[in-house]
Amino acid sequence: MLLARAGISVLAVDRAAFGSDTLSTHFLWPRTTGLLAKWGLLEAVAASGCPPIEQVTADYGPVALKGRPSAVDGTAAMYCPRRTVLDRLLVEAARGAGAEMRDETTFRELLREGSRARGVRLQDKDGNVREVCSRLVVGADGLWSPVARAVGAATDVEHETLTCGYYAYWSGVPTSGVEFYVRQGSDILVFPTHAGLTCIWAGRARGAWEAYRGDVEGTYHGILALAPGLAQRVVKGARATPFRGTSKLPNFYRRSAGAGWALVGDAAYHRDPLTGMGIGDAFLGADLLATAVLGGLGDGDARLDDLLDGRLADYQTEFRRRTQPVFDYTVRAAGLADPSSALPLYARIAESAEDTTRFMDVLAGALPFKDFFNPVNLSHLMRR
Ligand SMILES: Cc1cc2nc3c(=O)[nH]c(=O)nc-3n(C[C@H](O)[C@H](O)[C@H](O)COP(=O)(O)OP(=O)(O)OC[C@H]3O[C@@H](n4cnc5c(N)ncnc54)[C@H](O)[C@@H]3O)c2cc1C
Repeated sequence: MLLARAGISVLAVDRAAFGSDTLSTHFLWPRTTGLLAKWGLLEAVAASGCPPIEQVTADYGPVALKGRPSAVDGTAAMYCPRRTVLDRLLVEAARGAGAEMRDETTFRELLREGSRARGVRLQDKDGNVREVCSRLVVGADGLWSPVARAVGAATDVEHETLTCGYYAYWSGVPTSGVEFYVRQGSDILVFPTHAGLTCIWAGRARGAWEAYRGDVEGTYHGILALAPGLAQRVVKGARATPFRGTSKLPNFYRRSAGAGWALVGDAAYHRDPLTGMGIGDAFLGADLLATAVLGGLGDGDARLDDLLDGRLADYQTEFRRRTQPVFDYTVRAAGLADPSSALPLYARIAESAEDTTRFMDVLAGALPFKDFFNPVNLSHLMRR
């Protein structure tokens, strides 16, 4: 969308049908809605009937913090739109900007000229194969990125999967905005979404996966029982969808720029979903990559390949600089450590609206963890 708006000729393909669902919850912090606003798409999300989220609850058992994070670039809105809605909206915006959008079309192979990517071989749902030449190939093709495999992009920062879990949509479960519950070895994430439904994720430490998948319903409700007030609301509601779950939630950066190619979104960088950053990171990557490409394509002269490759390398550097604090915080949070030693601190934070907002800014990925949880600030908080 961003490149097409700038007049670049763009072909975007997806092997899935546009508007199909994907394995993901879909909470958007202000860092994510801020980019939708910048691109002129936030109003369409609001108009889709998705309830605005006015409050975030971070519940650690005896202590719960309630508030909301600060605005990012003037946008404080939070939503949890179904991916069937959000993804379709993005596809239509790209099409409206002039990009050629083709679904049910699979990337099969990279075309090369020496060591440079020069295009792709695609296959449509009827089996027809088509070759497309291009100055740039972008793999926005998710965690298992076939484009990354084709270019041989290695992962160079890696932590193992730390959590696993299942989610389902419920009707008749009222919420106070989004609700996060953190317990030792478990987490619960509650998101109101379209059509009066509430998406509820119940997560466990990765080591519990075999037991969880052996008894999904029992384990799921066992986790919800750690938050009795929520469990009581769920008992009065009705499950509207099957459970969906995963234990494949690695934490890594992948090399994401090379000769005529780039990776963006989960293909470039994957982190545990419990902090709800993935869509925002994909948007941030798209924004930075589009800026880099526009600065590097020159006038289409292939002699400018070095300029393009340099800009792509800058994109990778800037993307990692911007996301590293959230990555570090996510890996820490995904450890699902016993929160009890931090309860006195959380209680202190909860006494101040200003500190609660700053704490929410950490959760929202807008304030680096170390800028809040450092010895100077912590001793100030405890002495206040
Ligand atoms: C359980 C869970 C909960 C999550 N919750 C949240 C949340 O609350 N908030 C949040 O911000 N993020 C969340 N995320 C993360 C978020 O889903 C991802 O970060 C986001 O979808 C990344 O977008 P993407 O476009 O990079 O990848 P994807 O959404 O995975 O899209 C990749 C696309 O590539 C296509 N593709 C793959 N291979 C090919 C091929 N060979 N040819 C053509 N197309 C291909 C796929 O069909 C797919 O449509 C969650 C993730 C999980 C797993």
